[in-house]
Amino acid sequence: MLPAVAIVVPASLLAVLGWRAYRADALSLRDRFRQDQAAMVRLAAARLSEEVGRALEDLAERARARAKPGARSVFDEQSEARFRATHSLARHVFVVHQGQLIYPAPTQRFASRDERSTESDALQPSSAVTHRYIQQQRRLRRMRAVFGRALRAEYRGRLGRAARLYGIVARAVGGGRMAANGSLGLARVLRRRGDLKGARKALVSVAQAAGAKRNARGIAYKLLAHAGLVELGDRARLLEMHKRLMGAGYATSPQSRRFYLRWVVRRLRRALGRSRLTAASSTTPPVKVSAPLLSSSQLRGISQRTEALFATERFGRMLARYGVQERALPSGERTGALLVDAGTILVLRRDGQTMVGFSLDQQALRRRVGQQQRRLPPSGRGIALRLSRVGQRIDVPAKKLLHNAALPAPLGHFSLIATRAAADPVADIERKGQLRHIGMVLGLVLVLAAGLFFTYRGVRRESDLAQLKSDFASNVSHELKTPLTSIRMYAEMLQQGIAEGPDDQQRYHEVIIRESERLGRLIANVLDFSRVERGTRRYDLVEIEVDELVRDALDTFSRLADEDVADVTLADKIEPGASKHVIADHEAAVQSLLNLLSNAVKYSRGAPGVEVTLRGGHGELGVEVRDHGIGIPPAEQKRIFDDFYRAPQARQANVEGTGLGLALVRRHMEACGGRVTVQSAVAKGSRFTLWFPAARDEEE
Ligand code: ADP
Repeated sequence: MLPAVAIVVPASLLAVLGWRAYRADALSLRDRFRQDQAAMVRLAAARLSEEVGRALEDLAERARARAKPGARSVFDEQSEARFRATHSLARHVFVVHQGQLIYPAPTQRFASRDERSTESDALQPSSAVTHRYIQQQRRLRRMRAVFGRALRAEYRGRLGRAARLYGIVARAVGGGRMAANGSLGLARVLRRRGDLKGARKALVSVAQAAGAKRNARGIAYKLLAHAGLVELGDRARLLEMHKRLMGAGYATSPQSRRFYLRWVVRRLRRALGRSRLTAASSTTPPVKVSAPLLSSSQLRGISQRTEALFATERFGRMLARYGVQERALPSGERTGALLVDAGTILVLRRDGQTMVGFSLDQQALRRRVGQQQRRLPPSGRGIALRLSRVGQRIDVPAKKLLHNAALPAPLGHFSLIATRAAADPVADIERKGQLRHIGMVLGLVLVLAAGLFFTYRGVRRESDLAQLKSDFASNVSHELKTPLTSIRMYAEMLQQGIAEGPDDQQRYHEVIIRESERLGRLIANVLDFSRVERGTRRYDLVEIEVDELVRDALDTFSRLADEDVADVTLADKIEPGASKHVIADHEAAVQSLLNLLSNAVKYSRGAPGVEVTLRGGHGELGVEVRDHGIGIPPAEQKRIFDDFYRAPQARQANVEGTGLGLALVRRHMEACGGRVTVQSAVAKGSRFTLWFPAARDEEE
C-alpha cells in the first residue's frame, strides 16, 4: 500500500505539473504561430497592393513622358499595349488630364470637329460675303433638285440618264458634300453599267477631294470611296483601310468607324479564305493566281487588335458614363480605387493635373494571390489565401477562418482571407508534445517503480540474511551444546567412578573422544567457512586417487557416527582400467564428502541405506552419495547451497543443522575446479554428486 502511494502521489504530482507547463508552452506556441501567420498574410496583402501601386506609378510616368505641351493625346493604343505587356494586372488604361478624359479617346471627338466646321461655315462675320453666300445657297438647292432626279432615274433603272445627272452634280462648282454625293452616285451607276474604269475614276476623285468631309449620317466620304474601291476589286486597299480605321485616319463617326472596322475584318477573312482555296486546288492550275493578301496569323493579329480597340472604346464609354473625370480621389490621397458598375474596379493615381488609372484584371489578381500563397514560408503551409471584396459575405466556417487582412491602398476594396486548407500544423506539434509528455510520465513512473522494487528486494534480502544469521547462531549453539553435554556427562561419570569395570571405562573414553571429534568437525566447518568467506582459505590442489578420498572420508565417518555406518555401501561404476585420479585439495574434498554423508544419514531417519558410487564422466570423476530420505522439493534445490540456508522440511523433520554444510561444499568444489549437483524427489531420497576434474593420464 505504502509503496504504491509513494509512486502514485509523486508521479501524479509530476504529471500535473508537467501538464501545466506543457499547456502553457503549447498556448504560447499557438499564439506565436498565429502572430506569424497574421504577419505573413499581411505581408502578402501588402505585396499585392504594392504591385498595383508600382504599376500606377509606372503608368503615371509613361503618361508624363508622352505629354507634350499643347498635345491633347498623350497616350494611345500602342502605349497602352506596351504598358499592359509589363503589368498583367491591368485590363484597360485611362488617362484624365485637367478634368478631361483624354484616353481612351472620347467618342464625341468627331462630332465636335464636325460642329466646328459647320460653325465656321455658317457664321461668316463679314457682310461682304453675304451675297456670295446667298448665291451659293441657291446653287445648292438647284443641285439638290438635280441629285433628286438622278436618284429617281437610278431607281427606275434608267442608268444612262442617272449617270448624266450624277455627273452634273459631281462636277458642280465648289465641291462640297453635294459633289461627293454625286460622284458616289456616278460610280454606283457606272459600275452597274459595267464601266468599272469609270466607276473607279469617280471613286478616286471622291477619295482625293473629300478631305475630312462627312455625309449627313456622319460617315467620311473618303471612307465610303475606299469601300467602293474595295468592292470594285481593290482588295489590297482593305489593309490600308484597317490601318486608317484603327488610328483616326478617317474623320468618321464612331458608329461608322465601328461598322467599317467589322466590315474590313470580315472582308479580310473572306479574302484569306479565297486565297486558301486557290492554293488548295493547285492540281488544275488557276488562270490567274493572286498573291495572298495576308497570312492567317496576320489576320488573327488584326482581328485581335480590332477587338481590343472595341473593348477600349467600350471602356472609354463606360468611363464617360460613370464620369470618372469628375470623381476625384478624397483629398490628401494620392492613390485609390473606385468600384464602377458591374464589378469593374478602377485603381487610380493622381499627379497634379493628371490622373491615371486602369481597370483591374481580377482574374490576374486572383492568380497573383495564388502565387503569393505558393511563396508563403514553411510555417504558412496549409493556409489557403483568397481575395474577397470588402463587404462581401465570407462563406467560410469560423473554425477555418484564420485571418482577414484588409489590403492597403490602392486595393482598399479587397481583403485577403486566409483559411485553413490542410491539417493544423500546430495541432500536430501539440499532439506530438502530448505523446511525449505522456511517455515521459510513464517512464518516470516506471523508473520510480523499478527503484522501489529494487530497494524493496535489497531490504528483503538484508532482513532475510539477518534472520538466517540469527538462526545460525542459535543452531550452532545448539549443535555445540549436544556433544559438550555428552562429553561432560561421561567425564563426570568417569570421575565419580560410576563405570563398572574397564570395559565401561573404555566405552566412556571412546564416547568422549568421538563427541569431541564431532565437536572439532563442527568447529572446523565454521572456521573453514569463515576462512573461505574472508578469502584466506588456501587450497592445495594435488593429484589424488578418488578411491583414497572416499576411503579416508568413510573411515572418519565411521569413527564419528554412532551407528548406521554399516548401512553405507560403496560401488565403483568407473570403467575398469580407466584412471581414477582427480585434482583436488585433499582436506576440502574429504570434508565435502563427510558433509554429504552426514546429511544423507541425518535426513533419512527411518529409511536407512546410503550408497556411495564412483562415476566416470567427460574429463571429470564423480562421487555420488545417495539416500532414501525425505528428499528436497525442486523449489528448494537451488537455495540449499546458499549460506546458512535450511529448507523448511529439515526444520519440520526436527533435524538439527547449521545451514553451513552444503554452502561450504559448493565453495570447496568451485575452488577445486569442480562442482556439486543434486537430484532429489520429496520422500524418495536425494542424490548429491561431487564432480572433480580428472587428472590427465600420464600416457596422454
Ligand atoms: P544442515 O546443517 O541444515 O544440514 P546443510 O547446508 O548441510 O545444512 O544442508 C542445507 C539443507 O539442505 C538442509 O537444511 C536440508 O534441508 C537440505 N538437505 C541437505 N542434504 C539433504 C538430504 N540428503 N536429504 C534431504 N535434505 C537435505
